[in-house]
Amino acid sequence: MMTPLESLGGMLGAGVVLVSWWKALLFIPPFLAWARLISTVYDKHAARFHLAREKWNLGHMVAGTVALLVGMFLPALIGLEGIVGFLVGWVAMLLILFGDIAWYPAVANKDPRVPEEFRVRLNLDSFKAAREQKAAAKLAGTAELAILKPNKKLVTVPQSDAPEYPVRVAAEQLVIKAMEIRASHLDVLPASRDGAYGVRYLVDGVAQPGETLAPQDAGPIIEFWRGAAGMDLADRRKQQTGLITIKKDDLDTKAKVTAIGGSSGLRLSMKINPAEAVRRSADNLGLLEPQRQALDAIAADRGGIVLIAAAPGQGRTTTLYSILKMHDAYTKNVQTLEFETEDAIEGARQNVFDRFAEDQDFAKNLRSILRRDPDVVGVAEVPDRDTALEVTRGDLPNARVYLSLRAPDAMGAVQVWAKTVGDLETASANLHGVIAQRLVRTLCENCKVAYQPSPDMLRKLGLPAGKVSQLFKKGGQVLIKNKPEVCPVCSGLGYSGQTGVFEVYPFGAEEREMVKAGNLQGLRAELRKKKHVTIQQAALRKAVEGLTSIEEVLRVTAGDDAKKKSPPKQEPAPSGA
Ligand SMILES: [Zn+2]
Repeated sequence: MMTPLESLGGMLGAGVVLVSWWKALLFIPPFLAWARLISTVYDKHAARFHLAREKWNLGHMVAGTVALLVGMFLPALIGLEGIVGFLVGWVAMLLILFGDIAWYPAVANKDPRVPEEFRVRLNLDSFKAAREQKAAAKLAGTAELAILKPNKKLVTVPQSDAPEYPVRVAAEQLVIKAMEIRASHLDVLPASRDGAYGVRYLVDGVAQPGETLAPQDAGPIIEFWRGAAGMDLADRRKQQTGLITIKKDDLDTKAKVTAIGGSSGLRLSMKINPAEAVRRSADNLGLLEPQRQALDAIAADRGGIVLIAAAPGQGRTTTLYSILKMHDAYTKNVQTLEFETEDAIEGARQNVFDRFAEDQDFAKNLRSILRRDPDVVGVAEVPDRDTALEVTRGDLPNARVYLSLRAPDAMGAVQVWAKTVGDLETASANLHGVIAQRLVRTLCENCKVAYQPSPDMLRKLGLPAGKVSQLFKKGGQVLIKNKPEVCPVCSGLGYSGQTGVFEVYPFGAEEREMVKAGNLQGLRAELRKKKHVTIQQAALRKAVEGLTSIEEVLRVTAGDDAKKKSPPKQEPAPSGA
């Protein structure tokens, strides 16, 4: 007769059989590996991108428990004994664990909150190996990039003990950092009197200061990039450019390298992915819905002059290109006159004006284009009165001319245009519209922070108190297991990407009359009456939608009220447009 205690002992004895040392050895490691993967990779990944962490962890726990139970009891359930039974249970357990491991990436990688480069890759061994190798390479300073000259020839990596090797590594590190923080430009420029150089990154149109380089370090780095871009190294004064290709892992990027000499030394500028920067469809420019309709109406309308205005670096070229692309270049004669083609416009004839060549005249170039019976002409700049007058003498009832001008807003553009032409009557004739824009940085969706604006703040911004209950500001950090970590999507900047804020004003007879009379006040009132919004209003709407912050709107529209009284200031030309 067995006592209850003895029967319990018997059951434990059976359990001990299960955990005989070799069985335990087969059971425990897969569990440890699974648990480690869940807690160190998946859980952190979920926290970083605000996925439903608790639900995921619960799911993993359930899967783990089921795997353990199946591993232990499946053999007895289906009546298999001994080693065969054990192995069947063990394999079933492994399958469940693997299923759980595959489940998370299958769902999380489709989540729009997870940017493509941060997707979970299942091939963890190679992923880990690649990361370790990269960390080791950084420590030892290893060349990581493949760099192709403009003629597509590979720039050879020097031997690791050669004196050129550290230069190559240092030159690469600048570009790698630029790519990591999504910079559109990288500049190395003489910074101070003691000969030091400063590195500057332009991210979403805002300069982010970088490292300071001693002259003996900066010089060879600049020379390296000049060589890679195929420049004449003996010429240290003239501006030279070269388009190179940079490859890193599976990334393939173009970079336009520009170098120019100055009194304090050579200055290097790299524009990363230049064509990508100007490639946006009209739908993605950032126009509000009524503005999009107004733009469609302007594009559908035949002939006349349309001004496209922005300050340098504020997306003017992107907008000019996307508006030109709204015209069918296969059935219409579409031409451009540009200083450089920043991207190809399919079907259009893009004429490049060489500003360094002698005996070249922008106005004459434009005249010959206007004589070729164009339907649509895009002009990238109006450098002088002769050019402006050529435009006004064109066959404007039939040829639509888009003129890209430097001005902070639509009113500024009208002033610049009138001043360049020289008389209001000629300037106002055939003026069919003005489009002006600026760029605001968009908040990083992964780390933006909601807050309730005070009634006082709303009043100052002119926003309706009852309708706006929350606004967003930049974050820059995410909490992972209660510890703040730099946001992986925006590298801690709080913003990721830019969008345009616009003024789209179609001009009819009334508007032209106001321009002719020099009555900007009246023009403004007329546009307001027709419910056309200003750049400032468009920007505020983006803040209310949660796309950007009030701080960013104020940064971008600062001084607008003062500008209404004084003529627009011309800003110095930067390296980008
Ligand atoms: Zn972020």
